[in-house]
Amino acid sequence: MIYLDNTATSPVLPEVLDAMLPFLKEEYGNPSSKYYCKADNAKKAVENARQQVAALLGADPESVIFTAGATESTNFIIKGYLDYRKYYVDGKNHIISTTVEHKATLNTCKYLNGDIYSNSDPSISLFNNRPKVDRGFEATFVNPTPTGEITADSIKAAIKDNTAMVSVICVNNEIGTVSNVQKIADLCHEECIAFHSDLTQAIGKIRVDVHKMGIDYASCSAHKINGPKGIGAAIVKTDAYGIEPITAFMHGGEQENGFRAGTLAVHNIVGFGKAAEIALRDFEKNSKSISELDDFTVNELLRNEKILLTNPDSNRQKGIISIIINKNDFNNELFIKEISNEIAISTGSACSAGEPSYVLSAIGMKDKVTKVLRISLSKTTTKEEITRLVEIINKKV
Ligand code: PMP
Repeated sequence: MIYLDNTATSPVLPEVLDAMLPFLKEEYGNPSSKYYCKADNAKKAVENARQQVAALLGADPESVIFTAGATESTNFIIKGYLDYRKYYVDGKNHIISTTVEHKATLNTCKYLNGDIYSNSDPSISLFNNRPKVDRGFEATFVNPTPTGEITADSIKAAIKDNTAMVSVICVNNEIGTVSNVQKIADLCHEECIAFHSDLTQAIGKIRVDVHKMGIDYASCSAHKINGPKGIGAAIVKTDAYGIEPITAFMHGGEQENGFRAGTLAVHNIVGFGKAAEIALRDFEKNSKSISELDDFTVNELLRNEKILLTNPDSNRQKGIISIIINKNDFNNELFIKEISNEIAISTGSACSAGEPSYVLSAIGMKDKVTKVLRISLSKTTTKEEITRLVEIINKKV
């Protein structure tokens, strides 16, 4: 199997697995327990991982809250911040986000503004056809440029007196577009607005430094950087007294300073830490090899005049290659199914696999939603694998 869907998830590295295994075997202590060494070892391992994750993000270890992944982090940050700001600070209750966010952000904002009653998909909602609820929050979704970039100017135009937070994805998971989040963060700070960025596809791919970039809040998942699934981090704002107040997401025990209750998944946290350490250690090497391989892939694909890049601009992150097959009878779903015994690629986001891409619609390519393919590379992808993929696509096209 040629695996080219690394944006959906990436394989756990052997080094990561080796680091995790002791915490599934002999080191099974609960890090919140006291005095005995199994508890101590678990606690030390968690704190070590917190430092490793913080280092990858340029964050303070105190600002790292372990969660089950980017989806949970984004829910926690957006709901928690808006709730706190509205009910405990100054009543501000408006969030600005964008039409090219991952659904974790999009649907969290839609939940807040009452567009979603219960679960995200109205066709399977038990509460279908109920009237819209007023949760007391507002959300505005800003449109991108034709290449999927979110500009500071478009955010500026959406700011209102009651805007409390702006949330903008850094690297888009479908078409790879990188937005200048630092510029947007600067704008937010001038206006006393908190800034959150979904960094899930940014970590390990671009040099992230939340301090330098002015990112107050961030979300990410371990499994996009060769770590385990079901673990991620919320980076939250800290001040001289520790974490700045934000409403907790999981209420219960005192874990993660009471912001995310529940016994810590030590093995997963250790795996995330190791994956973060490796991503930082190998950053230059990986960037170089993925960049070269991206050039090779794009060159090979674009030899065929029926193939176009969805985003041909220089603001595309290397390694996330979204292409359009310009052929009337081409159907992307049927194609990826047809080749699925040999090659794993996708039509877009795994979290929106049941519906046509709203990201393509947002960049004015609604008519191309059945023509798009996403090829995402990893440091282990080889030229031979790419050559085989191109051969198969060319045969079809
Ligand atoms: N944001 C982005 C940009 C993603 O690519 C993903 C994973 N598809 C998520 C958020 C959600 O991550 P998870 O499913 O690990 O919670």
